[in-house]
Amino acid sequence: MKVVLKDRQTIADGTILVELDLKGQEYNFTPGQYFFLTLPELLYEDAKGPMRHFTIVNSPSQKGILQFATRLTDSGYKKTLNEIALGTEVEISNVLGIFGIPKDNQKPIVMIAGGIGITPFVSMLRDMHEKKEERNIRLFYSNKLKKQTAFLDELQRMDLADSNMNLILTLTDDPNWAGETRIINGEFIRDYVPDYNDCLFMISGPPAMVEAVYNQLMGLGLSNLDIKTENFAGY
Ligand SMILES: Cc1cc2nc3c(=O)[nH]c(=O)nc-3n(C[C@H](O)[C@H](O)[C@H](O)COP(=O)(O)OP(=O)(O)OC[C@H]3O[C@@H](n4cnc5c(N)ncnc54)[C@H](O)[C@@H]3O)c2cc1C
Repeated sequence: MKVVLKDRQTIADGTILVELDLKGQEYNFTPGQYFFLTLPELLYEDAKGPMRHFTIVNSPSQKGILQFATRLTDSGYKKTLNEIALGTEVEISNVLGIFGIPKDNQKPIVMIAGGIGITPFVSMLRDMHEKKEERNIRLFYSNKLKKQTAFLDELQRMDLADSNMNLILTLTDDPNWAGETRIINGEFIRDYVPDYNDCLFMISGPPAMVEAVYNQLMGLGLSNLDIKTENFAGY
């Protein structure tokens, strides 16, 4: 489907939010899903070509647009994405993915995000917030530095406004941060989720982080049926 690059904003250090205009075309998705974005031409060489996956960050109630957030890198694709003119026509695939909040499992949810892996959770939380869904959510969000922590203000506002949601931020490498600094491991989870045996865990982020947290949860004796993962392959 051809859509238009409508807007691009810096939302955290080295991180942009991109908005696509669907030009009136219908595009249905559930929070947590993603698409492939193909750029029409690359301004810089890129061995991986002109296509990457991105997770939708807006909620389905926002019609007519799609938003995604990404970390800028030195890849030819990202440099092009950050430089091509607004108004450029780009191509998106059909919506894909099954990483969403299960309706048939009413257990309290523990969301664990590494860096830009926060994007599917932002879409899910916006959607639940809009629908005033009462679901017990704990969100663990790990970044190196506060300035890299995308959507932090919005997540903190949701945390304050919603007694069912609890945000725990860990900044593993920020000299100015007096809060939690540990990486998310078994001890961390036992400390914040004493009822971990009764919870559904969702992990999203770079593959190495997702695998490490998954192994820690398995080490706590959880069933793999209670652990859902989304790997941002490519990081
Ligand atoms: C289901 C799914 C959902 C995803 N959702 C998102 C999302 O919402 N947001 C998001 O940001 N990503 C998402 N990704 C990952 C995304 O598709 C990319 O793979 C990722 O953003 C890395 O792309 P890249 O072009 O920056 O790096 P790649 O070209 O894929 O390279 C990987 C690494 O190599 C380095 N590198 C590449 N080229 C150079 C160069 N010329 N010089 C120096 N270093 C270089 C980059 O720094 C990068 O860290 C998702 C992936 C999957 C599978």
